Amino acid sequence: MTPTHHLPEDLLAVYAAGTCGEPEALFVATHLTLCKQCRESVAVLESIGGHTIETMTPMNVGVDVDALLARADSSSSKDAPKVDERLVAAQSQLAEAGMPTILARYLPDGLKWRFLAPGVKQVELDVRWNGYPARLVKFPAGYVVPMHTHPGSEYTIVLAGAFEDGDDTMRRGDVEVRDEAHRHELRITKDASCVCLFVADAAPIPLTWLGRLLRPFLG
Ligand SMILES: [Zn+2]
Repeated sequence: MTPTHHLPEDLLAVYAAGTCGEPEALFVATHLTLCKQCRESVAVLESIGGHTIETMTPMNVGVDVDALLARADSSSSKDAPKVDERLVAAQSQLAEAGMPTILARYLPDGLKWRFLAPGVKQVELDVRWNGYPARLVKFPAGYVVPMHTHPGSEYTIVLAGAFEDGDDTMRRGDVEVRDEAHRHELRITKDASCVCLFVADAAPIPLTWLGRLLRPFLG
């Protein structure tokens, strides 16, 4: 299925210019593995900028993680290279789950789902934006994420299933960008569970009593 909600142009531009940070680069690169349209846009921007056009590889077809994230690596603070066996194992787990294998290098312990809230599980990624970790979250079908806002930026990609936000339905590959100007409630569709990648520079601020219960888990 082709995504219908794409990366904002300003984010594409800083990615193509190689000037965005590692969390944002991971977010962009993850969407690019699922979106031919945005891959072509990045290629055009890179050619305009005089950069070499890199071939973006669709997910699970020998993704060259190093090439995809080489630019982000220049700002990386990682202490030591990951053990290859772990990387291969994480790639295998992601592929089996139908998720982009580009995420593997950020899963040092593999795809281990942990409790976030009743029925909701998460995997923290080994990359932080302003100290706040990127994360994969798996919601059950029909789950409602209570009304909340964001003190900073939150980038979301749907990797499996779908959710509704207002009148929009976000499906696999779709991108949502939110900030303090937005208040929203996410409703997972009732037909299937939903997995999203969240990259944010701060924890969301719940606006309901129920949501406040989740606050300790998101800090
Ligand atoms: Zn796109």
